[in-house]
Parts: sequence; C-alpha cells; structure tokens
Amino acid sequence: MATKKKPVARELLFGDLWEFDPAPETAPAGIADRYGLFINGEFVAPKSKKWFDAISPRDEKKISEIALANAADVDAAYVAAAKAFPAWSKLPGAERGKYLYRLARLLQDRAREFAVAETLDGGKPIREARDFDVPMAAAHFFYHAGWADKLEYAAPGRDLKALGVVGQVIPWNFPLLMLAWKLAPALALGNTVVLKPAECTSITALKFAELIRDAGLPPGVVNIVTGAGDTGAAVVRHKTAAKIAFTGSTGVGKWIQRELAGTGKRLTLELGGKGANIVFEDAAIDQAVEGIINGIFFNQGHVCCAGSRLLVQESIESEVMRKLKLRMKTLRTGDPLDKNTDIGAINSKRQLERITEMVDAGVSEGAEIFQTDCELPKKGFYFAPTLLGGVTQSHRVVKEEIFGPVLSVLTFRTPDEAVEKANNTAYGLSAGVWTDKGSKYLAIASQLKAGVVWGNSFNKFDPTSPFGGFKESGFGREGGRQGLLEYGELC
Ligand code: NDP
Repeated sequence: MATKKKPVARELLFGDLWEFDPAPETAPAGIADRYGLFINGEFVAPKSKKWFDAISPRDEKKISEIALANAADVDAAYVAAAKAFPAWSKLPGAERGKYLYRLARLLQDRAREFAVAETLDGGKPIREARDFDVPMAAAHFFYHAGWADKLEYAAPGRDLKALGVVGQVIPWNFPLLMLAWKLAPALALGNTVVLKPAECTSITALKFAELIRDAGLPPGVVNIVTGAGDTGAAVVRHKTAAKIAFTGSTGVGKWIQRELAGTGKRLTLELGGKGANIVFEDAAIDQAVEGIINGIFFNQGHVCCAGSRLLVQESIESEVMRKLKLRMKTLRTGDPLDKNTDIGAINSKRQLERITEMVDAGVSEGAEIFQTDCELPKKGFYFAPTLLGGVTQSHRVVKEEIFGPVLSVLTFRTPDEAVEKANNTAYGLSAGVWTDKGSKYLAIASQLKAGVVWGNSFNKFDPTSPFGGFKESGFGREGGRQGLLEYGELC
C-alpha cells in the first residue's frame, strides 16, 4: 500500500488516500464440471434428461452444469427419504449427533474451498463467504449435534418425535447457510430430507452432498434435487412430505400456504422483510453509521432481514447523512474473489434488473439518489451502493423489498413517530435501535413488530438464537430450541 496524499481531515477517507493492491483469492473451488441429483446417497443422472448451466455472476462465465429434476426425480428422492426414515429416526440421538459433528468437522476441513465455491456461484465477497457463511454453517451443525442426544431437555416432560420426511426449499442469498439452518435441526430430531436449493446457487449444496457421502450418512437420509420453481413446486406438493420448510419471497410463500391448506402438512415460512434501522439523537453516531452500512450492504443487501429503511431522528439527520456518504465512498465494490472487496456481484441478471427497476421507480417518484462513483467491472452483475433520500412511507422503495444495496432514508421527530413508521410495513422480520439509553432501547424494542430487534448492532446471528418473522415475513422459527421444536411432534 502506498500513501498517495496527506490526510486532509479526520474523516474516513481511506478510499481516496490509499491504494490497495488487488488480493485475489487463489484457493481452488473444487467445482465439478457436472453435478447429478443426490438421491439415496449417490449422484444420479436426472430422469428428465435435462441439465442447466450454473453461471457465475462475477463474470457471467459458466462454472458447471446441473441436473434439472422433474416430478419423477423428486418422487425418487421422496421414496429414498421415506425408506431411510424408520432406521434414522430410531437411531439413538447420540448416534445421529455423531453424524452431525462429522458433517461440521468435514465442512471445517474444506472451509476455504467451500467459501470460494460460494463466492463464485453466488457473487458474495470472499471475505463474507470465508468469515461468515461457512463458519456459521458449521456452527449450526455443531449446535444441533449437541441437541441430538439431549432432546428430552428441549421439551421437558414431553416426548419429541420426528415428523417424517421433510421437504425444504431454500433461496440464493445464503445458499450453504440456509442449507445448514434447514438440515441440521431436521436431522438432529430424526427426520429425513428432500432439499431443493435455488436454481442459480446449487453448487455448495451439491458439494455438501459430497460431505454427506464422506460422513457415511445412511443413504436416503438427505436427498438434494436441483432445478427451478417447478422442481420446488414438486417438492412442496409431494404427498409424502410431513412438513415443508421454505425460505424465499413472500409471493411464493403465499402460494405454498394456499397449496398446503387442508393437507395436514406442517409449514414454516421465512419470507421477505423491510427492516427499520432506527437511529436516535443520543446514539453513538459513528458506531451507528457502521451499523447502517453493515445493515444494508452486507451480502449486497440480499438479506431478508436487511436494515433497508433507515429511520434517523431529524436533529441528527445532516450529521448522519454526511458521515454515511463518506463511509459509503470507502466501500470497495467489484470482484467478489478479491479479498479487499466489500460489495460483490448481484446474484443474477434477473435480480440486477429488479433492483435497477425499483431504483428507477424510486427516482421517478421523486427520490433523491446518492450513489458512490466506484468503477464497476464490465462483465458480471454489479450495482453501486445507493442511498435514496427525500422519500415517504408511500414510496414503492420504502414499502417493497428491493433485495439489493439500496437504502431508503426517512426521518422522525419523536420515539412514537419512529415506532409508528417502523411498524408501518407489511413485513415484520427485523429492526435495529441505536440509542445510548438501555431503557429507551427496551421500550422501543417491545413496541416493534419484528421477529428480531438488534440493539446498537445489526445483522448479528447465532445458532442458539431463534430467527423468524411476523405478518408477511412468515411464521415459525429457525435456530435455537424454538427452531428445533418446529421439526418435532410433541407427544
Ligand atoms: P423465490 O421465492 O422465487 O425463490 C426462493 C426459492 O423458492 C428458490 O429455491 C426457488 O427456486 C423456489 N421456488 C420458486 N417458485 C417456487 C414454487 N412455485 N414452489 C416452490 N418453490 C419455488 O425468490 P426469487 O428468487 O424470485 O426472489 C424474488 C424476491 O424474493 C427477491 O427480490 C427478494 O425480495 C425475495 N427473496 C427473499 C428471500 C429471503 O431470504 N426472505 C430470499 C430470496 C428472495 P428457483 O430459484 O430455482 O426458481
């Protein structure tokens, strides 16, 4: 690193003052040229005879070819899972726990490789895949391994029995982590699984299938079927499923709920969000600015609990906005495989188009736009970090989930107004409160209709902590004892 100019102010201007050498990640991703479906403990060619391309959003290059599962393939996966269920569910919890520990350790052994594959396939910065997604996925397996032989403490005085075969459909924003959130509690309790990753991010799930094989998990306990929405619909509709667990858009979540009505299948939905990040005038402003940045730009804003609505007290608006813009200018947007990168590639062309359309709509409705002038790569899908000011509660960009690196900014004068505005949304997944006063945090948090409310922090996760929403953000919890109980029948 070489100093270019002398510091001019005590402000965060590293972006102007320092030049970073590129720091490309060089570890191999270990991605196969082609992946079949993982059914009954082995990779098999799809009955559909169809395959689709896995394209990296980093540079639009094909990185693999993936099997497309049709209804017959999904049926074969359910048959395998149903066959594996009696033995797996009867296994002593301590034995199931050993398999989960083994999966966690195998993932740790190949952590770097999985991180590179996740970045190549999904576009997230290698720093995040390496330091968050992969370790957190391993942590979920460790945590649930710990529960497997202590289930009597999860529901004291009651018997907790596995449900049967569980169908799980996961999204593209945290492919490996969402797999861990879904698989670990289901397996700990003795369920068997048919899991469908998102079409555009199937690679780490298929690499995880290799770990399942290496861990010696009995065939059929976990089956992974790949494909798009039709494959997901076949997973949801299959008569064998005792429960469906879905994470994704509210629209598809509502469809699934309609589809399952009257079938007796259990359902948990983790859907979208439009989290309010509320900053009071007594907050530590610099700390809050970091929290705002993390709240919206983590994983390019492809986060269901992102703090995508900033609510800032009017008296500190100009200071917060000035500091926020300065901090945004230091964000490095570009090649996700570069270890310096803060904001990587947008997950897909379709998502980039959706973000662009939403931001254009915001501007045409009168929003004042601020974007950093970072140079974006020519190939691949990228969007500059964006602030939308001058907006009101009725603007689309304030109401609808954008799922990109775009922050809408609103102001408030009193705590009551902050609560009113924060709750004025169809969603109810997350919120953040920034204040110097503990009592104020507790008073505000208790009035917010959100599944998780962070205090002087944002986007903090832990396997022991339940996560889930209210209203159109879904129902059911994932993580912690509460998430575990979603996979069992209390007798
Ligand atoms: P979807 O809800 O379509 O995708 C989520 C998962 O559901 C994917 O595996 C998808 O498959 C699958 N799926 C799609 N249609 C069906 C169906 N009819 N039955 C069963 N499964 C189905 O989300 P999108 O990818 O379209 O993203 C749209 C918006 O959703 C985003 O802009 C964002 O606002 C929100 N979103 C929220 C997420 C969250 O974590 N809450 C995660 C992802 C998106 P496939 O992708 O292969 O088509």
